[in-house]
Amino acid sequence: MLKLFEIFEASTLIIKRNRICWPYSINKVVKEYDFVIIGGGAAGFACAVKLSELSGGDARIAPVNSGPIGGTCVNVGCVPSKALIEAGKLAFESSRTRIQGIRMKTEISFEEVMSWIRRTVNDLRHEKYESLLEKLDGVELIKGRASFRSDSSLTVRQDGRDLEAKGRRYLISTGSRPAVPPIEGLEEAGYVTSDDV
Ligand SMILES: Cc1cc2nc3c(=O)[nH]c(=O)nc-3n(C[C@H](O)[C@H](O)[C@H](O)COP(=O)(O)OP(=O)(O)OC[C@H]3O[C@@H](n4cnc5c(N)ncnc54)[C@H](O)[C@@H]3O)c2cc1C
Repeated sequence: MLKLFEIFEASTLIIKRNRICWPYSINKVVKEYDFVIIGGGAAGFACAVKLSELSGGDARIAPVNSGPIGGTCVNVGCVPSKALIEAGKLAFESSRTRIQGIRMKTEISFEEVMSWIRRTVNDLRHEKYESLLEKLDGVELIKGRASFRSDSSLTVRQDGRDLEAKGRRYLISTGSRPAVPPIEGLEEAGYVTSDDV
């Protein structure tokens, strides 16, 4: 009976300010939190950790993240770039010695270097984010892309259905993305950014 009522309620017309509209999805799930954090990068994650600590695990906190957890720094920013720089430095230094008469041959497999970088990224993402997330009281990660639906709620599209997340407070920490400078011929020539190198 209850199920029937829920289905009826979800498919009932909504009459709002003289406008009639259908609910945007009959598959909608509504969840309520004290804090909803949009973005699960370094900033959003640090905020979730601090809120959990300060509330003694009592606050219900939901970071919503559309990409890999950890965002730019661990996945495509600080970590892989510094690993690549370190590899380049080692290759450069090992190919020249300070002593005359000693020559060393350096063999470089870029493929292997890249797979070491990917392993390092995966290990650090697990150590600093994924495994920590399991230990944080009151924190529930929502995977998907969030957009505000009204002043007081947002929707997250995941697996073909909409989740409506309501927060008493929100933090927007959605980071940034690479900017492509307006250089003539660049589009035709092609380019890579730090996100897809
Ligand atoms: C190549 C490179 C090297 C860098 N090196 C360093 C360094 O050595 N030292 C340093 O201090 N900084 C470095 N940075 C900068 C650093 O990575 C960023 O300052 C930092 O990652 C920003 O964190 P953030 O949480 O604000 O954003 P991000 O880490 O970008 O996280 C934002 C998250 O929000 C998600 N998101 C966006 N929109 C939505 C939405 N609508 N719904 C749900 N989720 C959404 C994104 O998918 C992402 O996961 C580097 C950056 C780059 C690109």
